[in-house]
Amino acid sequence: MVLCDSCRSRRAEVYQPHTGRRLCPRCFLEDVRGRVTAEIQRYGMIRPGDRVLLALSGGKDSFVLLDILAEIHDPSKLVGLSIEEGIAGYNRREDMEKIRKYASERGVDVILTSIKEYVGSSLDEIVARSWSRGLNVSPCTYCGTLRRRIINHYAKILGVDKTATAHNLDDEAQTAIMNLLRGDPVRLLRQHPLAPRLSRGFVQRVKPLRKIYEWETTMYAYLKGFRFQETECRYIEMRPTLRARVREHLYGLEERHPGSLLRLLELVDRLVKKLMDKYRELPELPSCRVCGEPTSYNREVCKVCELLSKAGVLADL
Ligand code: SF4
Ligand code: ZN
Ligand code: ZN
Repeated sequence: MVLCDSCRSRRAEVYQPHTGRRLCPRCFLEDVRGRVTAEIQRYGMIRPGDRVLLALSGGKDSFVLLDILAEIHDPSKLVGLSIEEGIAGYNRREDMEKIRKYASERGVDVILTSIKEYVGSSLDEIVARSWSRGLNVSPCTYCGTLRRRIINHYAKILGVDKTATAHNLDDEAQTAIMNLLRGDPVRLLRQHPLAPRLSRGFVQRVKPLRKIYEWETTMYAYLKGFRFQETECRYIEMRPTLRARVREHLYGLEERHPGSLLRLLELVDRLVKKLMDKYRELPELPSCRVCGEPTSYNREVCKVCELLSKAGVLADL
């Protein structure tokens, strides 16, 4: 029997390539929780007393986020938000009820809402309109942009201090590379946990799982026996090609050189931190002339209004 490299008493069942250690399930779960706690403390992401809105999709990462935060933060200060996209066969109310049930066992209330409730059309309906107009916009672009908007909207209504999303290390490394490839320094800076808010219209967003590999959140969810949603979204093949390519390359890199993604994100964090003072001098973001929400520096109309108007969900601008 191979013994755990940490406790040296229980049987090792999980191999962690980036550290070269073999761990027992209990030490593995403790290791993940410990690294999430350390990342939160390192950047002061969540302070005692903070009220935090957790974005819970019902997937494995969101279960892990909920499980760890309910453990290390006062559950009465947490509230979950689950958004039904309105994609046939995916993320249905029954799936959302599973995470709501688990959250309530951990003392956390969850609000259920939908894209349709917010803009009057489901994601499927928006995509169908977009296709009928011959637009070349990925469903994921509508989905991600609207979900971010809805999370921020609820965060403002509820008056919470922070919103927390379940992005993992793989997601964050992909985003960093994409921002570099696009030559977009402002987005790279905004990705940093210490980035100041560029608009009073944004509630601060934190990503406590940003240094946890995706295989680790999967393993954590499996060891804990979470009944998370495993159905694939039918639009997954239509993900924007740049992200799909970057994801593929990074997987190959990590496989050949374990720890690469972690080192990459740590390096980007360090470099970006040195530029942070310049970033603090940036002015407040302008407001969208249609909906009044914050928009990018070079835009009069925000991305949400632009996308919905092009798809015919909002009137022409
Ligand atoms: Fe949304 Fe794209 Fe994910 Fe489907 S694959 S849930 S459309 S982001
Ligand atoms: Zn152990
Ligand atoms: Zn707008």
